[in-house]
Amino acid sequence: MAKKGEYKSLLGNRYGKLLVIGSTPIKEDNRKYFWLCECDCGTKKLVKADNLRSGNTTSCGCKKQTHCMSGTRVYRIWGGMKRRCGNKKAYKKISVCDRWKNFDKFYMDMGDPPSEVHQIDRIDNTKGYYPGNCQWVTCADNIRKKETTKLNIRSAKQIRKMVFAGVNRKCISSIYGISASSICDITKNRTWKE
Ligand SMILES: [Zn+2]
Repeated sequence: MAKKGEYKSLLGNRYGKLLVIGSTPIKEDNRKYFWLCECDCGTKKLVKADNLRSGNTTSCGCKKQTHCMSGTRVYRIWGGMKRRCGNKKAYKKISVCDRWKNFDKFYMDMGDPPSEVHQIDRIDNTKGYYPGNCQWVTCADNIRKKETTKLNIRSAKQIRKMVFAGVNRKCISSIYGISASSICDITKNRTWKE
């Protein structure tokens, strides 16, 4: 790294669509160097030296074109998945695999959701989004799955007991925070099989 107060000239260097045209950098905050660049599209812009060298900035911004699928539901689902991960509290430790950071690859693997009510679901909820751990499920499937993850084999056993003893299902619902359809799944041994 250059010593404080020094800089390495970037004049004439090309970084993607950007050509450095400024002969001396503009210093900001006494530490960051900005270089005047000209983009292939003709726009002139000051770009941080760090961003040029790291490859973070490769155009004036004109390169960021919208994807031809950007208006579709599958594209919104993909965008939502990327935004959630690492941000929202419940998704702090959930990540999107590198392959799926690219929409085209994601679409190649997952395709369109089979219907308007299908959502993306992680088969193993403790793991991230990657091929093999994701499937399209209906909202109802997903709600049921989320609810039953709150339970364990013991509480499921207890729910069955209550149902067979004739306890009001609404009452069971409110105790365990699960829906009538989840209770039905449990009593029919579709989930939490013994
Ligand atoms: Zn440009």
